[in-house]
Amino acid sequence: MGRDRGILAELLRPLVTGVTYFLLAHFSLSASMGLHGMATMWPPSGLLLGVLLLNRRDRWPGLILACAAASAAANYMAHSDPLLTAGFTVANMIESVLVIRLLGKEARQFGAFGEPHRIIRFAASVIAGGLTSAAIATYFVGGWSFGVFVSWATTVILGMLIVTPIIVTTAHYMNRRRRPVSRAEILSSVIALGLVGTVTMLVFTQATYPLLFVPLAAVIMVTYLFGPPGAAASVFVIAVIGSIATTNGLGPIPALEGDRYINVLFFQFFLGVALLSSFPLAALLAQRANNLADLEHSNRMLEMAERAAHVGHWRVDLRTNKLVWSAEVYRIHGYDSAYQPTVPAAIQAYHRDDRKRVLACLKETADTGVPFKFDARLVRKDGSIRHISSSGEMERNPVTGQPAAVVGMFMDVTDRVNSLSQLELARKAAEVEARNAAILAETDQLTGLANRRKILEDLRGEIARAEAFGEPLAIAVLDVDHFKNINDTLGHAAGDEVLTRLGQIFTRSLRSSDRVGRVGGEEFVLVLPGMTADTATPLAERLRAEIADLDWPEAGLDQVTVSIGIAGHSRGLDDRALMLAADLALYSAKRDGRNLLRVAA
Ligand code: GH3
Ligand code: MG
Ligand code: MG
Repeated sequence: MGRDRGILAELLRPLVTGVTYFLLAHFSLSASMGLHGMATMWPPSGLLLGVLLLNRRDRWPGLILACAAASAAANYMAHSDPLLTAGFTVANMIESVLVIRLLGKEARQFGAFGEPHRIIRFAASVIAGGLTSAAIATYFVGGWSFGVFVSWATTVILGMLIVTPIIVTTAHYMNRRRRPVSRAEILSSVIALGLVGTVTMLVFTQATYPLLFVPLAAVIMVTYLFGPPGAAASVFVIAVIGSIATTNGLGPIPALEGDRYINVLFFQFFLGVALLSSFPLAALLAQRANNLADLEHSNRMLEMAERAAHVGHWRVDLRTNKLVWSAEVYRIHGYDSAYQPTVPAAIQAYHRDDRKRVLACLKETADTGVPFKFDARLVRKDGSIRHISSSGEMERNPVTGQPAAVVGMFMDVTDRVNSLSQLELARKAAEVEARNAAILAETDQLTGLANRRKILEDLRGEIARAEAFGEPLAIAVLDVDHFKNINDTLGHAAGDEVLTRLGQIFTRSLRSSDRVGRVGGEEFVLVLPGMTADTATPLAERLRAEIADLDWPEAGLDQVTVSIGIAGHSRGLDDRALMLAADLALYSAKRDGRNLLRVAA
């Protein structure tokens, strides 16, 4: 089914082209009959070239064959001479193939006739094809005739120059828009062409005034309104009406009283000038349409990029004070595009505490031209707060160098600010935790004093200091007497309470430079910088006595005593040796009966 329909469409294309070719040829031939075979232009040539330009290369043979058949039929009907019919047909077919070859690879891009160099190449190719075709046709007419050559060449050249652009540009125009032409557009083009026709008719049906320039003005107008298709179509209208009038002896050209041959040439010259004067404008307009389309495209890309990056831009015209927002700036503010931003309202949109700063920033740029950058909070229409970052600069008039506008990028950085502040909170929490962990790692849980690791580390530090400054250092090791008994008789909790209270007593009675730590179950060490064993003795003795005198109502104890060993640092003694010396002194205190103090030898 689909295949059948495809074949049908493939057959229909050359069929329609051939029939149209035949009708155009027949009409042109019969119109020029009374003129000894002279026509002003030969539209079938323009039709075939246009159709070839619009179709794929593989369709060309079919289309050319169809037109050859149409040409043969029309010519045979006109003068019944098989040789002439064949010759003219061959001339026209060769001409179309030649022109399309000369257009070369770009042939398919000729559609819009949008660029001046394409128009020039098109005209040159058409002229070359027309001259070749004229040479062939003249050969078949027999006996070299310059008149036949010129008349053939001018008619086919004009036929292609006028009709091909109409066909091709119209097809491209419809294709590119991808939407049906509206009734208003059809109406306006019909009215415009009707006006061209009316003007042409008025000019060509009177011979009093040489008003040939008036249709040219109409062509320019229609070209301005409709571009290249308008130019080609209006010249076509003038060609048809003017041909009929001129060949029938009407209008300003026959009034010149030249012979008919010269009149036709003159009219063709007139049509050529009409084409020449309209196409530069048409090309310019096409170029402008292309530029506008490009501009629109890049604007769309910019808008897309802004949306993806959450970046917008704004611009304040310094002369009119008019503010323009890009779509993304509207979105960030929470307004739809109907909103008309003004400079005061835009400043007002900033958070109350940020307004002054923002305004000062912008004023400085407007006054001095230095670029600005600020971060501020924006209160949106719905009251929610966005963090934005804006940076920009002054724009100068490219001609005068005068300040023209302030332009700025506008970025929504709320997500970044939020994640940054969350990161900062997490960092602070981690810091606190790390500090707590460090404290925990060097603190004795029960008493809150330095643990063994910490107090020995402090001791090493103090030894280094003492050695460096040649200052004395002493330590005292204290061990609770018969602590096991306390635990055994009153329980572990009572023992804990004794240890806690002793810790408090040590802390309270020490100088700020002294340190205390719990090094074992019920064993403590005091590090006493600046003291010798001798000066430390009274202090330790006072502690021992104070502890022995304490009452222990909560623990249900009569007395708690401690034994103390003291050792003084001397050069070269490390922490282990110093601790060992104090421990030895402590053992002798225990051995000697406890609740005693001994100094290392
Ligand atoms: P001495 O007079 O010879 O020092 O006798 P002592 O009983 O004090 O010595 P010993 O080393 O035999 O006993 C120490 C006891 O301390 C043993 C242990 O159960 C207890 N102990 C160790 N650490 C803690 C603690 O954190 N809390 C409590 N309540 N008891 C502990
Ligand atoms: Mg002990
Ligand atoms: Mg003990």
